[in-house]
Amino acid sequence: MIDIKQFSTLKKNAAASFNQQKAIIKKVMAGRVVTCNSCGGELFIVLPENSGTPGVYCKKGCTDISLDFAE
Ligand SMILES: [Zn+2]
Repeated sequence: MIDIKQFSTLKKNAAASFNQQKAIIKKVMAGRVVTCNSCGGELFIVLPENSGTPGVYCKKGCTDISLDFAE
């Protein structure tokens, strides 16, 4: 069984990264240069009219944010 304290920590972390991802998407959509936390590469946006899953990605794939988060 999952420890309830662990569970709430997980939820807190998820909310923090959710807000962080939203902020990143906003910046990229505003035309700002945002770099990947892992590889330092420039992030780019994939729009629904382009091929693939819409979202914000880096070339190496360590940043992979679905646009479902952008609402
Ligand atoms: Zn990366």
